[in-house]
Amino acid sequence: MLKEPKIPRKQRKRILERDDNRCVLCWRKYQLHIHHHWDFSGKLQKYENMKTNAPYEYTRDCDLVTLCGSCHGKVHTAERGSPIYQFVTDYLSQFNHSSLRKVS
Ligand SMILES: [Zn+2]
Ligand SMILES: [Zn+2]
Repeated sequence: MLKEPKIPRKQRKRILERDDNRCVLCWRKYQLHIHHHWDFSGKLQKYENMKTNAPYEYTRDCDLVTLCGSCHGKVHTAERGSPIYQFVTDYLSQFNHSSLRKVS
């Protein structure tokens, strides 16, 4: 299992509210985790001024998603590009409209 980075309490709260306090996959409202999603497809805008799209150094809201314990485990074991993985990427892409400039 991947280690999750520490998420500031304020940001955690913001993500939970954004996701309506439910798992975005199954809509369960309990046992919620905040998952840091690592988009391998490049759909989510990359970090500015970084050679890689490395997660965990600077956590944006569009990298974080609310999942229940069960779905969290599924996402962690899902293949890159599998439907469940892609669902989370697609879900998060709607929040990926920051003012960051595109990395060319
Ligand atoms: Zn769930
Ligand atoms: Zn996770």
